[in-house]
Amino acid sequence: MNDINKIALITGAARGIGRAIALTLAGPGLTLYLNDVVLGEEAAQTKKDVEARGAVARLVEFNVAEAESVSQGVNQIVKEAGRLDILVNNAGITRDNLIMRMKEAEWDAVLGVNLKGAFNCMRAVSKPMLKQRFGRIVNISSVVGVMGNPGQANYVASKAGLIGLTKTVARELASRNITVNAVAPGFIQTEMTEALPDDVRQLMLAQIPLGRFGTSEEVAQAVAFLISDAAAYITGQVIHVNGGMLMV
Ligand code: NAD
Repeated sequence: MNDINKIALITGAARGIGRAIALTLAGPGLTLYLNDVVLGEEAAQTKKDVEARGAVARLVEFNVAEAESVSQGVNQIVKEAGRLDILVNNAGITRDNLIMRMKEAEWDAVLGVNLKGAFNCMRAVSKPMLKQRFGRIVNISSVVGVMGNPGQANYVASKAGLIGLTKTVARELASRNITVNAVAPGFIQTEMTEALPDDVRQLMLAQIPLGRFGTSEEVAQAVAFLISDAAAYITGQVIHVNGGMLMV
């Protein structure tokens, strides 16, 4: 972050990559609104850790899939803070299944959070950002949104859709100095990947030229760049953070 006194909203910020983004951005002058669907101990810990880095932190509970709740949450932030400069659409879920067995509810849940959730949040922030003639939006997609992945038709469709949505909103909002970009992580070291059987881990690692999983912090660094002044001329792009497993 180069500019001081910015207001940011990160969805799904209680843990994982969202938490890493919050901690990476946190610093004096930044007010971070940390969203999650349920605010529990993890969110409270993230808030504490963000504050320890000198940022102001506020918790804001809403389900990104619910348009009305998102609208209320964003309006509350703008009322309280007077503006909203940065949105990171990070909240995401998986409900994996092969297409033949995938239930309608599994499809709807994943599209609802990952794709409609990002739409809801971007729609809600667009008004204050257009008014203030400034905004930075980063959407967390995935390498599988470009490559495809068996067993994840719903997730892949949501992450591919998010890339198209990013490019469209980037074109719509560019004239008011609002940039909209996506970060597409590859395999990131999380509790999930640590729990995988060794043979599965080895198979995954064999696809990665850099020979290791990425970290949440490495994803967060790409987000930090995209919202910085250094990236002011970058919009509608997808930054891949995947150790070279996909080169586009
Ligand atoms: P995670 O499950 O650890 O964290 C996701 C957070 O989002 C949780 O705190 C969860 O409570 C919150 N959330 C879920 N549904 C929500 C909703 N409806 N409203 C608000 N918050 C909600 O996952 P993660 O691994 O940190 O993933 C973060 C993002 O990165 C996701 O969009 C995911 O698809 C993407 N991603 C992750 C990886 C990976 O390897 N972990 C790879 C590529 C992309």
